[in-house]
Amino acid sequence: MLVSQLPLTVSLLMVTAIVAAARPETLKDAGFQFSVLLCLGLTAMCVLAPWNLLPAKSFVVVPIADFVVIAFAREATAQSFTSLGLLLVFPVIWLAARLGKMGVALSFLGSALVVAVPMMFGPSPGATDVARPILLPSIMTVIALAIHVLVSSIVSQDAKLEHKDAELRRAYEESLERQRLLDTMLDIVGVGVHAVDAAGNDILMNQQHRRNRSLASRPGAPGSGEQELNIMASDGTTPLPPGRHPVARAAAGQSFSDYLIRFGSQANQRVLSSTARAMTDKEGNFAGSVVAFSDVTEFVNALAIKDDFVANISHEFRTPLMSIVGYLDIVLDTPDEDPEQQEAFLRIAQSNAEKLLGLVSDLLSASSDSMDVHPQKVDLQNLIAMSVASARHRAGSRGVEIVNDARQPLWLTADPGRVNQVLDNLLSNAIKYSQAGDTVTIRAWETPENVSFSVTDTGIGISQTDLPKIFTRYFRSNSVRESAIPGVGLGLGIVKRIVENHGGSITASSMPGSGSTFTVTLPKGPAS
Ligand code: ADP
Repeated sequence: MLVSQLPLTVSLLMVTAIVAAARPETLKDAGFQFSVLLCLGLTAMCVLAPWNLLPAKSFVVVPIADFVVIAFAREATAQSFTSLGLLLVFPVIWLAARLGKMGVALSFLGSALVVAVPMMFGPSPGATDVARPILLPSIMTVIALAIHVLVSSIVSQDAKLEHKDAELRRAYEESLERQRLLDTMLDIVGVGVHAVDAAGNDILMNQQHRRNRSLASRPGAPGSGEQELNIMASDGTTPLPPGRHPVARAAAGQSFSDYLIRFGSQANQRVLSSTARAMTDKEGNFAGSVVAFSDVTEFVNALAIKDDFVANISHEFRTPLMSIVGYLDIVLDTPDEDPEQQEAFLRIAQSNAEKLLGLVSDLLSASSDSMDVHPQKVDLQNLIAMSVASARHRAGSRGVEIVNDARQPLWLTADPGRVNQVLDNLLSNAIKYSQAGDTVTIRAWETPENVSFSVTDTGIGISQTDLPKIFTRYFRSNSVRESAIPGVGLGLGIVKRIVENHGGSITASSMPGSGSTFTVTLPKGPAS
């Protein structure tokens, strides 16, 4: 309100100052004094009135009253100023800008009255005086119309801008939401994602790939760039030249699929399958690439284990089968041979056939989900003695001593055949993974609830990396696989299942080069 009123107030005060200097007698004119006082009163009203509590259009009284101010001032200074009517432009602009067409109409009416009323009471008008009442209101009306058109166009521009602004804001919110969705998706998928621009600079990298990179970062490397990473070829040992790194290939514009690489050093190396796709800009030029890394370590390991298993099982079958076929051939080819000798050959063939049968049973137990257990009251000391007796011959032939420290009866409810299977497996492993001069010791003890036994050897031992994996089906440690020690990686898996089927547990501890201890704990079961 004050801003709209001030131009008139300031202009009128300037007129007053000029009048005071040029024609001081005008200041005594009652009409002029009324005009200045009314103008000051209206200005004070603009400041003091509670406009926000009053109806929206109540401001209109001020510009309308301004017409009265101008009418009196114009009349009082008619001798000295001919152009004071121009002050009409201020209320006219105000009304046209705020009231639209109604403001234009009021502007016309107000300026016409300002000119016409004094003429009605004054001397009869001359020829130029006839034109004045028409000219000034017409000019003011044109100004009001121009202001109205200008304000309307500004208002409509404003509305358009506001609409655009709202649309932009909505699009921005949507893009933020999409960005959050994308970030969440990228962070929950188990695939590493790395995007680079055409110059090879990082655009985006999800958490999974940051983890992959942390495996491959070299301690003390000067930077954290792609070329600093410890990336190996698929064989796991040949370092990949920086130019062959998946991201470097992708940044060079290559698209590829299932490019196998290994991140990190031997101990916790992961096998990653990388796939890259190039991006293009709207002109079709290369704009960068997205590379996805899937962790296929378990899959690759499973394949290696399967290949190993096939090789081992073939070997395990072949050796006894060759022996059976060989001895049967001898018996058939030499019918006149000493019957005792013949029987000895047949017994060897039989023992190898039993070995094969044992192997097949192991395979069946390993692959079947269920396991028959027929518990009965048994003395663990007795079962240990039986297993030790049957293992003694094999141990002796390898130069390994067996020490049986289980000297007291230990009763429990368990399936004796299955407990024997556990003992046989642990003893046979202890002998198999020992060398001449080593010792295998078997101990047993009880607590109020359980009976336990341990098989300790002083053999080759198991590395800390392999220890958690030894109960996994088909697992054989690297050192064992590279040596000529036979086996298929089924025994400990079966042992664990038997023990757990009895409600017990098995643990292993070992030191490479010093030997291993396997401890089995079984619940005693019902007392009767
Ligand atoms: P297998 O002996 O036929 O390979 P097992 O399931 O019995 O299969 O054993 C799994 C792996 O655990 C073995 O290949 C070997 O690496 C390791 N292992 C088991 N027992 C011993 C032991 N007493 N000493 C050293 N390593 C052992």
